[in-house]
Amino acid sequence: MRQSRGRRVAESPPAWRSEFQRDRDRVIHSSAFRRLEYKTQVFVNHEGDMFRTRLTHSLEVAQVARTIARALGVNEDLTEAIALAHDLGHTPFGHAGQAALNHCMQPYGGFEHNLHSLRVVDELEQRYAAFEGLNLLFETREGILKHCSVLRAAALGELGARFLLRRQPSLEAQIANVADEIAYNHHDIDDGLRSGILALETVCEHDGFREAVAVSRANAPGLGGKRLTYTAIRHMLGAFVADLIDATRERLARHAPRSVEDVRAHPQAMVDFSPDMREAHLRLKRLLYQRLYYDPSVQRIAEQAKTLVAELFEAFMRDPGLLPDGTMSAGADEALRARVVSDYIAGMTDRYAQAEHGRVFGGAPAASAPPWPKT
Ligand code: MG
Repeated sequence: MRQSRGRRVAESPPAWRSEFQRDRDRVIHSSAFRRLEYKTQVFVNHEGDMFRTRLTHSLEVAQVARTIARALGVNEDLTEAIALAHDLGHTPFGHAGQAALNHCMQPYGGFEHNLHSLRVVDELEQRYAAFEGLNLLFETREGILKHCSVLRAAALGELGARFLLRRQPSLEAQIANVADEIAYNHHDIDDGLRSGILALETVCEHDGFREAVAVSRANAPGLGGKRLTYTAIRHMLGAFVADLIDATRERLARHAPRSVEDVRAHPQAMVDFSPDMREAHLRLKRLLYQRLYYDPSVQRIAEQAKTLVAELFEAFMRDPGLLPDGTMSAGADEALRARVVSDYIAGMTDRYAQAEHGRVFGGAPAASAPPWPKT
């Protein structure tokens, strides 16, 4: 195991696990991780039991990332810890919730889910006697902080320095990052088809998926329905992962980094697809944006979710007495009050947010009716 830059609070080494395994285990035992089960990925959790949630998404990311890490011979435990933790800071209702909270928080420094993931593991989890948060290793925290504005980076010291110096994170962080994109591209096709919002013909507008369907049919004549969809998605996912591993191996051989510092100092990420596959990957993302995420039925729920989050924020700011006892410290100024309210809302699951909205405002929750057929 390579050397770590360590933890913010020194701890005695674990008896029979590596330090990186300890981090992965701490993420899994956190309450923020359990709450991912009831947080939206694309479809609001209660719309159907078969759709991905943030939890199953995180597990799929970890699985893809671990495969890539093993093939490249890097630290699997670190890769897995980053992958499992990467979405801990997500609000209820996916990107709609994050956009609404960010809007509400503009006068107080905004809200970024990446930065909030770090806040969860550094401060908000309260489980240990000796420290706030989970006291994770520098390398795990570096991987969790995928994006960061230059302004905020300056306040983050050693961890934020790479955004100011335009440096890369470790190979393990790069793997978790690409695995996130590979996982959601593919599982969103599956969920999009299941919802009825995407049709097979629509996804076949992408040449990679068209080819995957053709290969699946050639290998199993007569294959149709869900088994064809699953087979084609699996085939395409495999092609992206294989390309990523091959192209990254080639890049590692060419640049021959001798340490993680060489990886960090390299001008580009070394974990990446070949140019053609990167293009195919971006086209797939575009197709999903245009045909799924921006579909009016998904957007309608997103708008309801934004209203719900904004109304909760305003209500708690207007009357902190509505917050559960002990949430707000006495004498907090407006900026601190806003951060406490933001932390409280960001930590909510979809259904808890709806229940809170019902408690505060009475009546039916704002985001309720599923607009698409359940299958
Ligand atoms: Mg993700």
